[in-house]
Amino acid sequence: MKVLVINSGSSSLKYKLFDLAGPRAICAGLVERIGSSQSSLAHTLYPDSGPGEKSEIFECFETHTQAIEKVAELLMAGDDPLVRSAQELLAIGHRVAQGGEFFKANCIVDEKAIEGIRQNIVLAPLHNPANLAGIEAAMAHFPGVPSVAVFDTLFAGSLPDYVYRVALPAAFYKDFKVRRYGFHGTSHAYVTRKLADLMEKPLDNLNNIVCHLGNGSSMTAVKGGICRETSMGMTPTSGLIMGTRCGDIDPSLPAYLSSCTGKSAAEIQTILDRESGLLGICGMNDMRDIHKAISQGDDNARLAFEMLCHGIKKYIGAYYAVLGRLDAIAFTAGIGENDSQVREKCLEGLEHLGIIVDQELNAGLRGKSGRISTHDSAVEVWVVPTDEELEIATICKDLVTA
Ligand code: AMP
Repeated sequence: MKVLVINSGSSSLKYKLFDLAGPRAICAGLVERIGSSQSSLAHTLYPDSGPGEKSEIFECFETHTQAIEKVAELLMAGDDPLVRSAQELLAIGHRVAQGGEFFKANCIVDEKAIEGIRQNIVLAPLHNPANLAGIEAAMAHFPGVPSVAVFDTLFAGSLPDYVYRVALPAAFYKDFKVRRYGFHGTSHAYVTRKLADLMEKPLDNLNNIVCHLGNGSSMTAVKGGICRETSMGMTPTSGLIMGTRCGDIDPSLPAYLSSCTGKSAAEIQTILDRESGLLGICGMNDMRDIHKAISQGDDNARLAFEMLCHGIKKYIGAYYAVLGRLDAIAFTAGIGENDSQVREKCLEGLEHLGIIVDQELNAGLRGKSGRISTHDSAVEVWVVPTDEELEIATICKDLVTA
C-alpha cells in the first residue's frame, strides 16, 4: 500500500513515498529552483535499516510538470523499481496551503476541488498556484491514481467566530474573505494526536498547546483535539517572530514605512516576509548560527533569541488562559525539536503556572520524542517530532479506503 506525498512551493517540489504497511518512508526528495537553469533534484533512498543514501541530479526543470516527470522516472526506473506501475499507488497526497471557507474537509481531487483551490488563489497567491500545478502534473502523469488535497488551514477551521473574525469593517469579511485562517494545520493535528498517545490520555480529554517552531513558526491552543486558537492569521506573516517573517507588528507600520521609504505596499510586504524576523534583527535566520554568534558576544543575536523566546512565552500565557486547564505543551519542528535553549528560555519562570522543566532531560533531548518536564510539573512538557508527510499519507489512506 504505497502513497506518494507532494508538497509544491512556488519554485520547489518536495516528495516522499511511503509504504503504509509499516508505515515506512521508502524515499524522499527535493527539487529546487524550478524555472531556473540551476535547478536540481536531491533524492534520498531509505533502506530498511541504516542511514539514507542521497543522490543529486542537476537538470533544468522549467515547470512543476517536468519535475514530477523526473520524480516518476526515479520511482519507476530500473529492474527493481520502487513503484512498479501507477496502479501500485493507492493515492497521491498534496499539501494545499489555503482551503479558505470553501473546503470543510480534505478531499479526493475532482473538478470542483480544482475550482475551489483556484478560487482561493487570491488568498494564497504564492502557494495555491504551485499546489495546483503539482496536482495537475500528478493527475496527468499518474492517470487513475486518486489525488488527495490536504489543506494546511483545515485544523483551524474549528475556530469560533470571535477568534477568526478580524475587527475591521464587517463588509471586508463578506467581500474579501478577511479573517484568521491559520496554517501548519497538518503538523498541529499530527503532533496533538501523537502527544495524546505518548501521554496515554484520550484525545478528547486533552488540553494542549503546540509550539511549531521552525523557519516558519506558529502556535495553537487545542481543546479535546479541536483547535481553539492559532497564532497565524489571514496569512502566515502574523504571530511569532520567524526566520524571515516579522510576526505580529503594529498594523499601522506598513503605511508608515511606505511613507518613510517611498516603497510600494508590495515591496513593504516582501520586507515583512523575507527580510524581517530573526534575519532582520541579527542578519541570521538559522538558530544554530544565532547560538554560535551569541557565544561570540554578538548582541544582535542575543536580542533575536530573547525576542523569539519572549514571544513564545507570551503566547503560552495567552493560550493557557484561553484553555482554562492546560495538560501539556508540545514543541515541534526544527527549533522546537532540537533547540533546548529556546525551550528552556521560553518556559523560564513559569513554575507558578505549574510548568517545571527538567533541565537535564531538556538539554539531552534532540530530534526525538520525550518528556522534558519534571514529575511534579502539573503541566507536562514534551518534544514531539512532527511528520507532516506521514500525516498527509495517512489522511490519503483513510479517504481512499473509506
Ligand atoms: P524547519 O522549518 O522545521 O525545517 O526548521 C528549520 C529551522 O530549524 C532552521 O532554520 C534552524 O533555525 C532550526 N534548527 C534546525 N536544526 C537545529 C538545531 N540542531 N539546533 C537549533 N536549531 C535548529
